[in-house]
Amino acid sequence: MDFNALAELLFPETKDSPADMEARFPERDLPAGANVTRIGPSPTGFVHLGNLYNAIIGERVAHQSGGVFYLRIEDTDNKREVEGAVETVINAMNYFGVHFDEGAVVDGDNGKYGPYRQRQRKEIYHVFAKHLVQRGLAYPCFLTAEEIDAMREQQTANKENPGVYGKYAKCRDLSIDEVKANISSGKEWVLRYRGTETDEYIAVEDAIRGKVEMPRNNMDFVLLKSDGIPTYHFAHVVDDHLMRSTHVIRGEEWLSSLPMHVELFNALGWKQPIYCHTATLMKIDPETGGKRKLSKRKDPELALSYYQQEGISPDAIWEFLLTILNSNYEEWRLADQTADYRDFPYSLSKMSISGALVDLDKLRDISKDVIGRMPAEEVCAGWLKWCEEYCDEFAQLIKKYPERTVAALNVGRQAAKPRKDIETWKQACDFMSFYYDETFSIKDQWPEEVDEATRKLFFQKYLSTYDHSDDSSAWFDKVKVITDELGFAVKPKDFKKNPDQYKGSIVHITNMLRIALTGHSNAPDIHEVSHVLGEDIVRRRLEKWA
Ligand code: GLU
Repeated sequence: MDFNALAELLFPETKDSPADMEARFPERDLPAGANVTRIGPSPTGFVHLGNLYNAIIGERVAHQSGGVFYLRIEDTDNKREVEGAVETVINAMNYFGVHFDEGAVVDGDNGKYGPYRQRQRKEIYHVFAKHLVQRGLAYPCFLTAEEIDAMREQQTANKENPGVYGKYAKCRDLSIDEVKANISSGKEWVLRYRGTETDEYIAVEDAIRGKVEMPRNNMDFVLLKSDGIPTYHFAHVVDDHLMRSTHVIRGEEWLSSLPMHVELFNALGWKQPIYCHTATLMKIDPETGGKRKLSKRKDPELALSYYQQEGISPDAIWEFLLTILNSNYEEWRLADQTADYRDFPYSLSKMSISGALVDLDKLRDISKDVIGRMPAEEVCAGWLKWCEEYCDEFAQLIKKYPERTVAALNVGRQAAKPRKDIETWKQACDFMSFYYDETFSIKDQWPEEVDEATRKLFFQKYLSTYDHSDDSSAWFDKVKVITDELGFAVKPKDFKKNPDQYKGSIVHITNMLRIALTGHSNAPDIHEVSHVLGEDIVRRRLEKWA
């Protein structure tokens, strides 16, 4: 067979050589040890937590080493492509604070190693496809899907490995005339790699999993589909070589195709990148109590948009994912509550290889801590940003009452053990609603221990002695006097000891105040809250009940 003639027949338009490509995409000029990583999402319109999970690893591995982190859009499967999906990926990553040094941008490319959308790289893949044909390592295959299905069935019945290989690779040795005749009769073809029948094993040192041993590829797998677009396998190898990725960080579902990738790197004479196959995201199934994969159908938390809608701050997501990703992250965080998570020395070797558990309760706890550590101004800015997208009512209120909002967010924040009232931006709307008349309402029940007449009397007495300029202890002394006058125990333990002697305790009295001022019996310090609200609002809210 004249492989050169075959290559010309299949790729008449491809004029560039592999050397031209090497010259067009030279080695990157980076200091020794700088890593180049990427994410390669498919533009399906659905951005999942796994995309962010791998992005955070890639970002850390690149930026910790002074390297480059880029975005490549893997759109070889046009059936899955959704309009606007590239923008969705970019926006989601941006929202979560993942920034790319180069790669696809909404309306094009940023960087010298592009195009960064695989469909726009067709000519580049064809250079290497042609080269493989010239070397007898790839050939056109005219088998139809039906023929392959029938073959697989037969193979399964014979207890043989299913697939196109060895004697089943029927188009391997077609003559050039047969190929020409097939093409001119309009038969579709795919380009297949010519596998070797072998029982060798390959070994790959995975940066997360350690040494991985697998049987060497023996399949005639597809390099180019009938429309000339590459499969994932071929595109991955060509792109990660030409874009000079040092690490390929991807989900463990790709581990089984590693032999094909190794085969191609070897066939093309290229150095393999360092593979990092990450653990699948899992959850505890609420029904069975068992661990299972997160499912797109059943689990809203697999979608990245879920976290945006719930108002989980980007910092909280980072801390949460870092906790899942590196076993020593929590310890590091405990040792220094104020450190920036970007200073954590992230390490691939500390990653778990059994499933990574996504526990939303834990995320909420982390989110509470993260927001609890922020200065009030930062909380206000983060919350406002979220509200501008998801809750216009509160965006307006924050902008109308900026000082009150920051003062409210400061309540209990400076304490030695700061309050952690806010879990998410969404829940902040709930928690903060009492600070604005527009959204204030009484949510909790009045304490049973106080009858209506006593309640009225209490508010009358409270208002008649209320002096907005009282400090916390003068204010509390007055509350104690009224408590006593109304027949309630000033010390809760006295009421506990002798419940018959009192109507209730000071707890019931202050709860009433809390409810009248905040709508809730569980609320921050009344004296502080009163000062955030201001005298007018305090009096108005209490007069209603006096
Ligand atoms: N397009 C692949 C995916 O969405 C990316 C895998 C890779 O990063 O190589 O799973």
